Amino acid sequence: MKKIKTDFLIVGSGLYGCVLAERIANKLKKKVTIIEKRNHIGGNCYSEIDKLTGIEFHKYGSHIFHTSNKNVWNYLKKFTSLNNYKHQVLSKYKSKIYQMPINLKTINQFYDKNFNSLEAENFIKNKTKKFRKKNPKNFEEKALMQIGQDLYKAFIKNYTEKQWGKNPKKLPSSIFNRLPLRFNDNKTYFKNALIEGIPLNGYTEIFKKLTSNPLINVIYKKNFNLRQKNIVNNYIIYTGPLDKLLGYKFGKLEWRSVKFKKKIINKKNFQDNSVVNYPEKKYKFTRIHEPRHLHEERKYKNKTLIIKEYPQLNNDEPYYPVNNIKNRLIHSKYRKYLSNNYKNIIIGGRLADYAYYDMDMTIAAALNKFNYIKKNIK
Ligand SMILES: Cc1cc2nc3c(=O)[nH]c(=O)nc-3n(C[C@H](O)[C@H](O)[C@H](O)COP(=O)(O)OP(=O)(O)OC[C@H]3O[C@@H](n4cnc5c(N)ncnc54)[C@H](O)[C@@H]3O)c2cc1C
Repeated sequence: MKKIKTDFLIVGSGLYGCVLAERIANKLKKKVTIIEKRNHIGGNCYSEIDKLTGIEFHKYGSHIFHTSNKNVWNYLKKFTSLNNYKHQVLSKYKSKIYQMPINLKTINQFYDKNFNSLEAENFIKNKTKKFRKKNPKNFEEKALMQIGQDLYKAFIKNYTEKQWGKNPKKLPSSIFNRLPLRFNDNKTYFKNALIEGIPLNGYTEIFKKLTSNPLINVIYKKNFNLRQKNIVNNYIIYTGPLDKLLGYKFGKLEWRSVKFKKKIINKKNFQDNSVVNYPEKKYKFTRIHEPRHLHEERKYKNKTLIIKEYPQLNNDEPYYPVNNIKNRLIHSKYRKYLSNNYKNIIIGGRLADYAYYDMDMTIAAALNKFNYIKKNIK
């Protein structure tokens, strides 16, 4: 391969890398080369059209854009409009369908009651009394003190065990913070979002627009490593995992991964909703996605596509960081080593930061990093 001259080399064409590429090329008028190990742009937000059904699906799991950050939305809306999709999750337990997160309707349906909000709150308070603690030590303790044993066992325990491959007693309590409990009928998943929806023309179009400046060049199917000599550049923005970059010298960072199995069904509708959880142990998968419901504004054929999600052990596709003390310590060693030894490498994004970032957080982090680059790098 011949030598590539560039001002900024960006490793990874996900949201973090592409937002920075767009800013650097359009605002600083610098040359950017993005190298991407996959054969497509967009990182885990990538969407494509299923050939047989014509349905657009998200290859790495359904992605719902939601934010309360006005700066992020003011930036993103230059590249896309959103449809009216509002996320709702259902859960199938013992052949019945329940609303998630647990709300008043879930409580009444599960316990066969007709409570109002206050009655439901008192009922759950009673159920959780014996589990209440000042400092819950793990996921299970936190869940039990918030929702009690019955709801925990039905909807959360086995689901969590399948998702993380660990006993919930071995998981940090912070993971439970992501699962709210409501004593009203609100069934929207992201109840505080100012902006929510799915990009009208899919996610991939956003990435094409982000990288449309001729100063940006994207090279696919190229895995970056520090020994590469054929790229002459001033700065590297690295958005991949740090352990892999540094040859696992301080050990391997643990990730939870996911496999998706697609199936075409010869009817218009399978489950009425874009996602249904399957918390029971007898199912190896955790949820079924039906992407046609992400775009109700589109006219699709009388076939539908369903995608079953199977959690996996750490493999080549890292999805969720296992954010415990051991992994955080390993990650901080890599971070420190890089900043001491490679002054021209800037890191960021969910893989390099070993963090779970929603898309709006990723965009906010990239915009902040751009401000840093603009001030500090000539
Ligand atoms: C299953 C799942 C569902 C999600 N759903 C939502 C949702 O509904 N709403 C929401 O807001 N957020 C969601 N997210 C989060 C969202 O995916 C992230 O915020 C976003 O993708 C992060 O972008 P990134 O650029 O940091 O990382 P990525 O998208 O992972 O991009 C990193 C890119 O770097 C490439 N790369 C890595 N190492 C190398 C290397 N050595 N050489 C070359 N290329 C390399 C990778 O191939 C990848 O393309 C979800 C995440 C997951 C895992």
